[in-house]
Amino acid sequence: MSGYHINTCIGCGAKFYAEKPQFRTCPRCWCEANPDKTGRIAAGLLGMLALAEDQVQMIAGQLADLQEDRAGAGIDGDLLKRLLQLSHPDRHGNSQLATKTFQDLQRIKP
Ligand SMILES: [Zn+2]
Repeated sequence: MSGYHINTCIGCGAKFYAEKPQFRTCPRCWCEANPDKTGRIAAGLLGMLALAEDQVQMIAGQLADLQEDRAGAGIDGDLLKRLLQLSHPDRHGNSQLATKTFQDLQRIKP
């Protein structure tokens, strides 16, 4: 968004794109403070924004749950050690398959 300035809202502390550097209130805080000037369209947009924020929070929660599940689903250290030994490229004539598998397993090493 060239030509815009990233300012911090004095009302809510959120960062926002301002058309002019002297604009210190984000569009949401401005609309909430000036309902007489903004009308029904702004009220509708604020409602949509609140819904979108709820969805972002829900998705962030789901992401955190998935990350937690993933962390708990790791291969245990002993199994990983055996897989690394079994796939070592030296045991397989330096085949591409063994090299790739060995490298992938090394990446999941804790
Ligand atoms: Zn604000």
